[in-house]
Amino acid sequence: MTPFFPEGNFNWYQQQGLPNIKFVCGFCNATVSSVRGYRLGHGRDGSGTQVGGIYICPNCGGPTFFEPAGSRFPTPALGNPVTHVPPDLTALYEESRRASSQNCFTAAVLLCRKLLMNIAVSQGATEGLRFIEYVTYLADKGFVPPNGKHWVDHIRKKGNEATHEIALMTEADAKELISFIEMLLRFIYEFPSMVPSQP
Ligand SMILES: [Zn+2]
Repeated sequence: MTPFFPEGNFNWYQQQGLPNIKFVCGFCNATVSSVRGYRLGHGRDGSGTQVGGIYICPNCGGPTFFEPAGSRFPTPALGNPVTHVPPDLTALYEESRRASSQNCFTAAVLLCRKLLMNIAVSQGATEGLRFIEYVTYLADKGFVPPNGKHWVDHIRKKGNEATHEIALMTEADAKELISFIEMLLRFIYEFPSMVPSQP
């Protein structure tokens, strides 16, 4: 569990009782049922029919906003944390994941493309290449599994679309690219750190 208030020194004041909602918390990823928070109701004083609200996670204290149109923020980020990754790459990866938790999928995809370039450069690629050339570099250097070629082709195609047309990206697009990068980060940084290096 990741507490929303790591210090534990403060809390939400005068929470209201609310109709139960079950959801996956975007802060701690736990599946929770919450009946506490702040109601959003019709009328200038909000006393009318409930149309949404802020629900406090009973596990971590994080606030999830359920808006009248039916969306909620944040949702759980796509992908999973990866350890032993250099800080600058972790920052980009986590920012892309955060963007995905706010329904900002085009931003998440563009950050992923930048991240792929940085990963390739960290593995010896020349700076200043095109996005597609970096993806090809990673594939040619063996960072993509033998049966993952269709993945690479797919990502190259998607990268092209995003560059030239500034096409809006969907959740599925962001999920594909974040999953691909998560795999790369595990292969390149996390797995090698799990066994002692040879003398
Ligand atoms: Zn939570």
